[in-house]
Amino acid sequence: MVLDLLKEAFTQARLPGSFNDMKKVVRKLGLTSESIHACPNDCMLFWEANAEREICKVCKASRWKETTSVKSTRTETGSEKIKSKAPAKVLRYFPLKPRLQRLFMSSKTATHMKWHATSSNNDGKLQHPRDGKAWKAFDQKYPEFASDPRNVRLGLATDGFNPFGTMSVNYSIWPVILFPYNFPPWMAMKKTSTTLSMVIPGKHMSGNDIDVYLQPLIKELKELWSVGIKTLDASTKQTFDMRAAIMWTISDFPGLGNLSGWNTYTTATCPSCNFDGSGERLRHGKKNCFMGHRRFLPQDHGYRQDKINFDGKIETRSSPTTLSGSTVIHQLEKVNITFGKNHGVVGVGKKRDRSGASVSDSTSSTQQWKKKSILFELSYWEFVMIRHNLDVMHIEKNVFDNLVYTFLDDKKKSKDNLSARKDLRELGIRSDLWPDDNEKYKAACFTLDNDRKDIFLSVLKNVKLTDGYASNLSTCVDVKSRKISGLKSHDCHVIMRDLLSIAVKNVLPTHVTSAIVELCYFFRDISARVLDNDELDKLQDRIVLTLCHMEMFFPPSFFTMMVHLVVHLTEEAKLGGPVPFRWMYPIER
Ligand SMILES: [Zn+2]
Ligand SMILES: [Zn+2]
Repeated sequence: MVLDLLKEAFTQARLPGSFNDMKKVVRKLGLTSESIHACPNDCMLFWEANAEREICKVCKASRWKETTSVKSTRTETGSEKIKSKAPAKVLRYFPLKPRLQRLFMSSKTATHMKWHATSSNNDGKLQHPRDGKAWKAFDQKYPEFASDPRNVRLGLATDGFNPFGTMSVNYSIWPVILFPYNFPPWMAMKKTSTTLSMVIPGKHMSGNDIDVYLQPLIKELKELWSVGIKTLDASTKQTFDMRAAIMWTISDFPGLGNLSGWNTYTTATCPSCNFDGSGERLRHGKKNCFMGHRRFLPQDHGYRQDKINFDGKIETRSSPTTLSGSTVIHQLEKVNITFGKNHGVVGVGKKRDRSGASVSDSTSSTQQWKKKSILFELSYWEFVMIRHNLDVMHIEKNVFDNLVYTFLDDKKKSKDNLSARKDLRELGIRSDLWPDDNEKYKAACFTLDNDRKDIFLSVLKNVKLTDGYASNLSTCVDVKSRKISGLKSHDCHVIMRDLLSIAVKNVLPTHVTSAIVELCYFFRDISARVLDNDELDKLQDRIVLTLCHMEMFFPPSFFTMMVHLVVHLTEEAKLGGPVPFRWMYPIER
């Protein structure tokens, strides 16, 4: 009806007659997508060699979900039931090659695609991923690829997304998005520059089985790496063989686990420290904690000898070294799993072959690695220096939550509680904070009393921010019941950067305040759009000290994985360049 009306109103316009006619027009633009059927249990795709199969070769589930519909026409025997076939699960795949080719169809974008090589960087600062060590090392390793600036460098991002969020249904799909890093900083992370690669169907997360769905993309990427594809460059009116490579992945921490195969739920969970991590299980808190940041200090630092103020031990270890892809491949040799969710072990594919590796050893590679990531099928992946980015957005949000809810002594979210105090007793440190026989314990130096809570919360509540800078903080802060709720990640970012250091002043003891202020400055500096290598070194020295200072007064339960990951962020920034190119904000938005 609308079309008819428009046609009548604009007789000169060539409007399509129907939705189908319009689709025919759009199809010519090369914007097609492929529907690939998948096993309902995520074991395999009915694709390529398996395209004609009717049942899953792993779990034997049918490719179809049988729906019975009642035929409307009545026969003599009453209404007749007929069975119609509908696929059980469908992956929507958007072929990459035509989409990359399209970037060169306009002379303007084609010129922008060469920005990373043509624009100079005089001040030596990190402004773009191309200024980072990882990019430069890649160029050195593959000079042939680097010689043509039109070859595309991509970032792969993924996140769970609930398309029916407003209906509060428990259903999420996983879009996989690609970012071309050839573009200048002001374009690379823009919505208009991104390419949707696929939509992995729900309703449950594919988790470790994400590799099954990535197959079509990896196939294209392999071709794009080895032979490339003839592409017309509109800016020079010449064709060239366009090649493409994935630089790294961007995801939240559980997503990092799914993409890399590193099990993020054990005591060795830090993917950067790898098997050299210093995680510990807290007996009473029943959580893993990650302390031991003194090992990142210089060998002759006084804190290393200090037993009393730290965990009761002398620290002699040096800081853990970052693993190369080749070492990871070596660790992955024994890992052999079958994908899918229907063989007893939920979430993690059943291990077929443990190759004699001991099961009780929680840090054995077959326990710690859930799979050999499909990305290793790309021959260059082994030599990429930063394969999976730690997401500063979620790290900052989690650190913020740990801090603020502990200050406010929130019943559920505070990291300081009876079990935390019992764990202190278990570890034999800070005896003044141990609970007594009646399980009573005295307030710690970082807990605010009610008067101070009121001051702290009023500062946050009464702050005036410009429109659009953050949500309306005053609605999130309830001074009366002394609670904070409903803060979005970006609000936490704003508070950490600009407000928290002011709000804690005068309500907490000096040694606590100075550590918090340092931590706030760290997050402000690390998420800057332009970074400096020398400044990053200083920043690293300071954050290690800050974490050590925090270890001196916060209980071990405070040091969750997310707090520990802070120590690795400057190293990643040196490798990958400024954080805004590698965090989740653009993806979540
Ligand atoms: Zn199956
Ligand atoms: Zn670590």
